[in-house]
Amino acid sequence: MDLISLPPCSRRTELTAMANEQPMALSPASTSAIKISTTFLKTPVKTDQEILQNSMLEDDPNSNTILPSNELSEEHRTSLEKPARWGPRHKGAQELAKLYSNGKRTQELICVYICISLMILNLGLILRHFRLERISNVVVAAIFGILTADFGSGLVHWGADTWGSVDLPIVGKNFLRPFREHHIDPTSITRHDFIETNGDNFMVALPILGKLAWNFFTKTNAEIQQDYAISAYLFLCSIFIAMTNQIHKWSHTYWGLPKWVLFLQNHHIILPRRHHRIHHVAPHETYFCITTGWLNWPLEKIKFWSTLEAIIELSTGHKPRADDFKWAQKRT
Ligand SMILES: [Zn+2]
Ligand SMILES: [Zn+2]
Repeated sequence: MDLISLPPCSRRTELTAMANEQPMALSPASTSAIKISTTFLKTPVKTDQEILQNSMLEDDPNSNTILPSNELSEEHRTSLEKPARWGPRHKGAQELAKLYSNGKRTQELICVYICISLMILNLGLILRHFRLERISNVVVAAIFGILTADFGSGLVHWGADTWGSVDLPIVGKNFLRPFREHHIDPTSITRHDFIETNGDNFMVALPILGKLAWNFFTKTNAEIQQDYAISAYLFLCSIFIAMTNQIHKWSHTYWGLPKWVLFLQNHHIILPRRHHRIHHVAPHETYFCITTGWLNWPLEKIKFWSTLEAIIELSTGHKPRADDFKWAQKRT
């Protein structure tokens, strides 16, 4: 459905429906038995109202497509005259986008090409040493690989969102800048090409893939077989780490996704769009995991991130998200 053509109230109703989980199809016999646990498990982390008031409508092009002014409604025209709260018209987002440098682009290009070469090399080595009796090990390794990558994505994302500043030498402009830009212009990621989207994640996967290839070339066949489960785990974990920002990009893409990506999102095998919207509610303090998002709900329920932040704030005196908040205010 074209949400842009709907009046604001209908659009909000539609969005509210999208923000809620789809009801599960339950047999009458099982309904009452699991009703309590379902109610408990579906306790919302953010209410519909919080999502609507404190995040950008990404399924609306949010002025990415500016209509000629005579076709705009009075309400839309007034909103365009105000300093943008989110999106590509946000002054802070425009300033951050300009800080993407040629040097950074070169680093991303190098990382992507070396990483893809190592992925192909390791895949060949993993397949060469595969024995059918190892299949259960590979399945377990895949699950732990995904969980590790999901937790790692959350930890890195939380660290970059919450601490540090774009003004920090080297790290600030090159590695923290994209996180700041992403909060005030979430759809900018959908306009980034493969290199800009994936360069940094491929860089993180590089040392793991490098070490893995080294092991294959320096160990005996017997040792390789003995450590096969660990090698499969490291390989799959590094693949999921490398793919994380591509998966993240898909979670912000509302048009033209291939059917197989939609299938993976709809079955929550990779990060679903509705699920990731919860992170994009200001002040962006929860749901940091962006590979599959499987760990978001349990980590929120045990107050993992807020506890870590309280400990760090107490011991260092630094306020969480101070730099993120500063950039969000640069509307004019
Ligand atoms: Zn974030
Ligand atoms: Zn995002």
